[in-house]
Amino acid sequence: MTTLFETRRYLIPFRTGLLPQIFCDTLVLGSGVAGLRAAISAAESGEVIVCTKDEISTTNTSWAQGGIAAVLPELPDEIDDTIEAHISDTLTAGAGMCDPEAVKLVCTQGPPLVQQLIEWGANFDKDSNNHLSAGREGGHNANRIYHAGGDATGREIQRALTTAAAAHDSIRLFDHCFAIDLLTPSNDPGAPVLGAITWHPKHGLQVIWARTTILACGGAGQVYRESSNPPIATGDGIAMAYRAGASLQDMEFVQFHPTTLYIPGAPRSLISEAVRGEGAHLLDDSGNRFMPAIHELAELAPRDVVSRAISQKLAHQGGKHVWLDCRHIPNFEIRFPSIWRTLKSFGIDPTTDTIPVHPAAHYQIGGVRTDLTTATDVPNLYAIGESSCTGLHGANRLASNSLLEGLVMGAIAGRLAAQRADDATTPTSPATVISSILPSTHAELDLTDVRSSLRSTMWYNAGIARTRTKLADACDMFDLWGRYTLDKVFDTPDGWEVQNLLFTARLIARAALNRPTSVGTHWIQAEAEADDSLESDPIDTQLHASWSRNSTEPVYHAVSESVG
Ligand SMILES: Cc1cc2nc3c(=O)[nH]c(=O)nc-3n(C[C@H](O)[C@H](O)[C@H](O)COP(=O)(O)OP(=O)(O)OC[C@H]3O[C@@H](n4cnc5c(N)ncnc54)[C@H](O)[C@@H]3O)c2cc1C
Repeated sequence: MTTLFETRRYLIPFRTGLLPQIFCDTLVLGSGVAGLRAAISAAESGEVIVCTKDEISTTNTSWAQGGIAAVLPELPDEIDDTIEAHISDTLTAGAGMCDPEAVKLVCTQGPPLVQQLIEWGANFDKDSNNHLSAGREGGHNANRIYHAGGDATGREIQRALTTAAAAHDSIRLFDHCFAIDLLTPSNDPGAPVLGAITWHPKHGLQVIWARTTILACGGAGQVYRESSNPPIATGDGIAMAYRAGASLQDMEFVQFHPTTLYIPGAPRSLISEAVRGEGAHLLDDSGNRFMPAIHELAELAPRDVVSRAISQKLAHQGGKHVWLDCRHIPNFEIRFPSIWRTLKSFGIDPTTDTIPVHPAAHYQIGGVRTDLTTATDVPNLYAIGESSCTGLHGANRLASNSLLEGLVMGAIAGRLAAQRADDATTPTSPATVISSILPSTHAELDLTDVRSSLRSTMWYNAGIARTRTKLADACDMFDLWGRYTLDKVFDTPDGWEVQNLLFTARLIARAALNRPTSVGTHWIQAEAEADDSLESDPIDTQLHASWSRNSTEPVYHAVSESVG
């Protein structure tokens, strides 16, 4: 049955000819690591606009703590590591579903880009010999995680990239500029993207025409009630690409981080994996360490294993959280200053207290399907960073690989955009685009209630422990909610975000329902499944499924099959 999820092309009615028009060669939506890195390369040729819905530095990137994974060319003597080993660890984490070419590309092209970042002024932490200091995180078999300010790596990368972008004459940074939808001259499959319709609190609706549009809107952690992500992570990029006809891949794979601070009413602040890398232990209510009995790497087992172990422990012992014991870690305050400050603000002293922790949605592995040039299957649209799915992460992301992916794919997308700006055949002329939407016949909505119901449903029905019955229930609920939420026209980001969350939630739930066997982060609870009345054929764990609004059923792809 066709629903508004398939037919709603734009969130608002408009006529481009009646709106203010802005022109550029490259439009970058998003100002995190991926977007800014792309903008800097794109600005080598042509005029670039970076558009971001909040402050430039309000990004997931700024919140990254642990670091960036890379095998730098000049390693300190005590580190025995190779790019091949990084590739191998990434492939292992991805549970057989990584695209090996994507892994090779990111692990190989990443190190020089990290070095370039250092040349642009990013200050990574150094040891007493003035060598860059590399830490370890779960799934990595060598110390290759470079960090800054102890646990403030993302903030430093964001600062360095923002400074570099702001200094560039050809880059205009538009903050508080909400991208509502990508513009195409028609709603036909294959219609090219010609820019975006945006909204600014002071300037209102504006049309930004671009020869190339690069989507770098980050992830969708806010789709879950428990999330480590900042409020901006509402899946806008994923939803707007879907409305424009792009295929989305691997949406069922969502990484849950095992250790976020669990204090009711407080944001779910991340307690970085690097803390477990320094030796922190997970304890149950009786004070017993439970991870060594579950996995040989104990607390440093892959994130999905630790998250499931905590979730099962809570199912058996009750309660809302387990405990993280850092009391034996020396110099906690110096190594993890931001986490220290957060804990202190809640009266927790990690040198004497154990910390209440709980898993939370952390990283959207699936996203807009791209090839290794960052091209999507919609002409003129490129996708990078957490909004995209290159196949790097397979069914589970190796810690600290996402900042690296943002740098590498950002640089590739930017270079391509610069070439397109020089290419006379790249389309430039704007089209007249008209969106007509009939007034809603349904009642007014309490948007706060829709948002919180959606987030709870995703947490309980499509979270760490999934069953096909619960996933099917979620899909049914979202189809119903779509009828009276997607027919509305909102005029502020609050409403558009709720609509985007609903698109994204439904895509995750449907993709999860479509994959009846567990792989990577997608875990179907075996004991519950025995009573599960829904039947379906298992799909090959080596196949990726992609979804687009142009077909109601998924399309399957082999691991390395390219876009197109
Ligand atoms: C707490 C935390 C810790 C993490 N730690 C690490 C780590 O140690 N190492 C690692 O590799 N990864 C880590 N990650 C993941 C990593 O930070 C992200 O995957 C990565 O930063 C994503 O970068 P991005 O450029 O794709 O998106 P983001 O950095 O999220 O940027 C998205 C941008 O898109 C903009 N945007 C969104 N919607 C719209 C819209 N409608 N209109 C206009 N603009 C829009 C936002 O305003 C923002 O500017 C962590 C994530 C979190 C939440």
